[in-house]
Amino acid sequence: MRNGSVRLNDSHHLRLPKLGRLRFKGLPSKILDQTDDIRIGTTTVLMDAVGHYFVSMQLGSEYPFVSEQSVIKSKVGIDLNLTNFLTDSNDQVIDNPHYYRTIRGKLAKAQRKLSRRARRAKKSQRRLSASKNYQKQRLLLAKLQLKVANQRKNFLHHVSTALIKNHDLVVAEELRGKNMLRNHALAMSISDVGWRTLLGMLAYKADLYGRKFLTIDPRNTTQTCSDCGHVMAGKNKLTLADRKWTCPNCGVFHVRDHNAAKNILAKGLATL
Ligand SMILES: [Zn+2]
Repeated sequence: MRNGSVRLNDSHHLRLPKLGRLRFKGLPSKILDQTDDIRIGTTTVLMDAVGHYFVSMQLGSEYPFVSEQSVIKSKVGIDLNLTNFLTDSNDQVIDNPHYYRTIRGKLAKAQRKLSRRARRAKKSQRRLSASKNYQKQRLLLAKLQLKVANQRKNFLHHVSTALIKNHDLVVAEELRGKNMLRNHALAMSISDVGWRTLLGMLAYKADLYGRKFLTIDPRNTTQTCSDCGHVMAGKNKLTLADRKWTCPNCGVFHVRDHNAAKNILAKGLATL
């Protein structure tokens, strides 16, 4: 596999311009099986806050990297909400991951310690780059942050892969920054659980596995009865506290998020 100056020698060695021959790990074996056929496009080298280096390569091939999944005739709508991570139209609930809550205290403590060391260095007129204690703490904090980020990424990969592999069609709501920012606490927890990242993953995995992923306008997905279409409005409008409700028009009992997920799927199907 090569592209002018970038060359993949084997599963553990590559050659990059200026840097020369490098050892690396993490190449999927599936890719190596078809090396003759693969072209290397843009190659990027990144370093994270902890000092790990990453090479990312854009690869092209005549043959798909992932075998197409069989048709399973299953469609699903997903409601992203705050009481759990998501509820789907089949009433499956995925709970919020708890890793962040448990590590949050540790993060705050490490951050405070870092600030203290910065102040101390300033007081004794040392540059931060020359302060060993500060640098040690900075690395410790960066490692903690990286750990949280990796846990979140793993969780989102797990959820998005399962959704795409198990359904031919996945429908979600568009996330609207403007709506979300109105409620600061809501916006915070949205960035916390990573819904935007999840939607991005669903989009590219749908392409990869030959599935369909749609986002729809979130208007009234919560307030509409999925049985009769009645819209709760005015003083009947559901608030965030109304987790369960009964439709005043047809009398059907609803669990808020499950009902929303059903409406989201219906909206998606209507656009096809
Ligand atoms: Zn109804």
